[in-house]
Amino acid sequence: MLGQMMTQPLLISSLIEHANHYHGQTEIISVETDGTVTETNWAQVAENARKLASALTKLGLALHDRIGTLAWNNRRHLEIYFATSGAGFVCHTVNPRLFPEQLTYIINHAQDQVLFFDATFIPLVAALKEHLTEVKHYVLMGPRNEDAISQIPDVQFYDDLIETGDAGFQWPCFDENTASSLCYTSGTTGNPKGVLYSHRSTVLHSFGSNTRDVIGFSAMDVVLPVVPMFHVNAWGSPYACAMSGSRMVLPGPDLHGEALVKLIDTYGVTLAMGVPTIWQGLLAYAEQSGSKLESLGRTVIGGAACPPSMIETFRETYRVETIHAWGMTEMSPLGTANHPLAKHGDLPVDAQHTLRESQGRPCFGVELKIVNDDGKELPNDGETQGDLLVRGYWVLDSYFQTQDQGLLQDGWFATGDVATIDPDGYMTVCDRSKDIIKSGGEWISSVELENIAVAHPKLATAAVVGVPHPKWDERPILVAVKADGEDPTEEELLAFFDGKIAKWQVPDKVVFTDALPLNATGKVLKRNLRAEFANVLDE
Ligand code: ADP
Repeated sequence: MLGQMMTQPLLISSLIEHANHYHGQTEIISVETDGTVTETNWAQVAENARKLASALTKLGLALHDRIGTLAWNNRRHLEIYFATSGAGFVCHTVNPRLFPEQLTYIINHAQDQVLFFDATFIPLVAALKEHLTEVKHYVLMGPRNEDAISQIPDVQFYDDLIETGDAGFQWPCFDENTASSLCYTSGTTGNPKGVLYSHRSTVLHSFGSNTRDVIGFSAMDVVLPVVPMFHVNAWGSPYACAMSGSRMVLPGPDLHGEALVKLIDTYGVTLAMGVPTIWQGLLAYAEQSGSKLESLGRTVIGGAACPPSMIETFRETYRVETIHAWGMTEMSPLGTANHPLAKHGDLPVDAQHTLRESQGRPCFGVELKIVNDDGKELPNDGETQGDLLVRGYWVLDSYFQTQDQGLLQDGWFATGDVATIDPDGYMTVCDRSKDIIKSGGEWISSVELENIAVAHPKLATAAVVGVPHPKWDERPILVAVKADGEDPTEEELLAFFDGKIAKWQVPDKVVFTDALPLNATGKVLKRNLRAEFANVLDE
């Protein structure tokens, strides 16, 4: 016997229309590519999304056609998100920080029919254009621009295109499993692979992230997604904020500490989201400028391990709660978030703080387990490390248009992370499996060593990698970037590990460098460091 309730498909168009009806006057602040600030609102975003959807339909696009974007976090990008998916096209956000060859590969592989781009990327698009085999329409996200015309003669302009559309456009109704958006993983090995989200997975992910113990966006929040809209859909925040009717501050291209602190203070941002490297710059500028980040209540930090020292600075100096979260492109991206349980209220304060350091518990909709090399499930004792597998409502089933389906084990997705899980379900990422250091048969977590190193006041940042060692196979070395005006010695940096970890885990050597190599999503390229310093322990 079936239940007798309405069956309404979970569609992204319902998110924007909800925001339109119930939060229409709620502001969306957008820093444009030229640095000017525009104030719009959910009603205007919804109207423009309908007009754009109509205009795109008139261009002759077919259902499921992919539409690429090379763009910062701004209002037009937000409108494109809802217009494309809502109309039944696929919003394909492309990471402009990738190499030109990767961009060409991704845009051609996705068969993007339209490419929207911000003015920053006019030269990039002009250079790529001859290699892009499928794109039929190039649209600059702004008004008419002579510079763009001189470099891309057939360019169209967003502000003109949208005027060809109809504000009364009716969102089509279709199967909730229809593809809605596409993100490629940054491809640290091999070609990038596409993760094709559906309307259903996106709406369920929004419900999940809106629960109190995940992010819990609220109509009272002013949300600053620093995480780019080209990186796993800014962690799904545009959809979840439309669902909750939050105000949004879209920061545009300048993500330096100064610009972010000014946005937080000017617009009363209550909730900000981003990777740890972004917050290093922000905290440095806040200290220098004397800003108290008065309005900020919560930061959501993920994408890479958040050092405990950063959580502490936010808490002790700025009274800001850090929600340490973990996820990946293949998971839309949310997997876990760190919030306490009721019983933790009885613990001493220090223990409560320590509990907030891990990547947290899975939210409803995501299941986790750790396994050994044979795929056998390992105990959740908080000690045993294993390969982390996931499954859930918004986890990838297979990659977009590729034969490579080898990632699923009995219906679970292998994340490539090595983790522990404690009896309450709190998960700690020890490492990416390829980054873990195997020394004399024992495992050393590079993340744990990095968390200690970056708390040293004389370091700006640091990474730990394993390099070949004749006796122990691999030993850790610390690759350190000195803080401005500081000159720490190798001895004092190594002494800093004393008493914090077992002696055999302390790095064998410190090498200093001016900057760490980062990939397109701001993560340290450890394989480059391993190659560069492969022989340092031979000397
Ligand atoms: P990639 O960088 O591989 O393209 P993602 O941006 O999807 O893909 O990154 C996912 C990976 O980032 C995770 O598998 C994990 O290794 C790492 N990661 C994400 N959040 C955290 C976190 N809070 N702590 C440690 N590692 C994290």
